Amino acid sequence: MTLIDIGANLTHESFRPDFDAVLARARAAGVERIVVTGASAAGSRAAHALARAHPDFLDATAGVHPHHAIDYDDATDALLRELLGDDRVKAVGETGLDYHRNYSPAAAQIDAFDRQLAIAVDCGKPLFLHQRDAHGDFLASLDRVRDRIGRAVVHCFTGERAELFDYLDRDCYIGITGWICDERRGTHLRELVASIPAERLLIETDAPYLLPRDLVPKPSHRRNEPMYLSHVCAAVAAARGESPEAVAELTTRNAKTFFGL
Ligand SMILES: [Zn+2]
Repeated sequence: MTLIDIGANLTHESFRPDFDAVLARARAAGVERIVVTGASAAGSRAAHALARAHPDFLDATAGVHPHHAIDYDDATDALLRELLGDDRVKAVGETGLDYHRNYSPAAAQIDAFDRQLAIAVDCGKPLFLHQRDAHGDFLASLDRVRDRIGRAVVHCFTGERAELFDYLDRDCYIGITGWICDERRGTHLRELVASIPAERLLIETDAPYLLPRDLVPKPSHRRNEPMYLSHVCAAVAAARGESPEAVAELTTRNAKTFFGL
């Protein structure tokens, strides 16, 4: 059984002390490839460097997360375009809107999102999208370019049924994380995940965030890492009434198609 983690923030400082061990544990747990998320200018540069250093195991995305939208300027735009010109960088993002925390003002978020959508139109690479508490504005921006971009994934989907079907109507892929393992706030996802068409389903850890809450034994640290993707896969499989092997196979196939791996 092999798996592809479509979203891991391996440039996060928490991975610095034992980076090689994290990769080794992921491989041992059946992870075949990891797409390292770029979420800021510096982070995208670092993700690109990791993908270049580990071409047999790591790929990268290049983008600016809505939390960092206030930092998005012409130099950032030029950097993302340059990185996306390299074959090691597979998608535009993480980009989108997040009104849950509003670390950047909404207007700045929309501007940075629109500019990254324009990059996707220009470079033709797929989109790695983030949306939280901003569904209406997010769709408004996406709809302006939807017929000029190709594949798009709404990563770490945690929303409600209507949002899910808005994304599926727009032919988006859906990324599911360990949120589905959360007994407090993930139960609705277990019902919804069965409604995702097989060819639109992707899985991810979003490490070091979103450590699955039902791991046994619980790790002593709070850090999530790609080795736990098999746990997410098992939870998704249980929710869909399918075998983990079947979900591993279809999500691996989907990830390869999505990113052109
Ligand atoms: Zn995200």
